[in-house]
Amino acid sequence: MKLAVFDWQGSRHLGRVAETEDAVERFDLARGAVTDAGVAALIGRDLPPVAEALPLAEVVLQAPVPRPRRNVFCVGKNYHAHAREFAASGFDSSAAKGEVPEVPIVFSKLPDSVIGPGAPIRIDAAVSTAIDYEAELAVVIGRPGRNIAAAEALSHVWGYTIVNDVTARDLQGRHSQWLIGKSQDSFCPMGPWAVTAEEIALADTSVRCWVNEELRQESNTGLLIFDVPTIIAAISNGITLLPGDVIATGTPAGVGIGFTPPKYLRPGDRVRVEIGGIGSLENPVEAV
Ligand code: MG
Repeated sequence: MKLAVFDWQGSRHLGRVAETEDAVERFDLARGAVTDAGVAALIGRDLPPVAEALPLAEVVLQAPVPRPRRNVFCVGKNYHAHAREFAASGFDSSAAKGEVPEVPIVFSKLPDSVIGPGAPIRIDAAVSTAIDYEAELAVVIGRPGRNIAAAEALSHVWGYTIVNDVTARDLQGRHSQWLIGKSQDSFCPMGPWAVTAEEIALADTSVRCWVNEELRQESNTGLLIFDVPTIIAAISNGITLLPGDVIATGTPAGVGIGFTPPKYLRPGDRVRVEIGGIGSLENPVEAV
């Protein structure tokens, strides 16, 4: 099941996306009832009744969790080929610990960096001249837990979405912590909707990214160094994960920094991330 947040006729709504992906069934909720939690407000509840079906073309999709209740958790260097390309880039402040991490590298992005599909990734040339894309499968937590065992971890997953972990490489390299380079305004495109957990086969889900019409990243979640259960076990080690928490699982090879010379994002570009079983998340790039 695909669940979406969208704007229509001047207010925000929740709905279920039709299998054909050309319509959305709007839930019958009071005006103003949809919160920053978006689809996360539906976790553990029966779905509201459907008011009507609307053509998808008539609504403006938003991020499925428009403002997560706290930072988006992210995993760095979680595909072998990407770990190699990033370690070789000169921007990897974790490189001294080795090309491939022995335990998950976890950082975060501010909730305010989240934008929806179609919204512009804004590039401020006064701040960064090395802005990169990262296609990632993101987990949405459904059941709270602390010290979650890997064997139990998937029972805490409510669903999945797509995150583009946009990154200012120069800022990432300058500060040994990655927060600033990862949390610039508009640097967390998310969407186009969330899917419930049964829609995704973690051992075999395609992850692709195009910049304009050029295929840059093409991999599969079966190739993650640390799989989703391992990631959840690591993050929940002493930290209580909460419903609606979002965890971006890492990006495969083919980011801009992996090319010689690097292929950074430029105003006028369009970035499209496509993940099997979810759909595609496309955002234009604009100068501030
Ligand atoms: Mg990333």
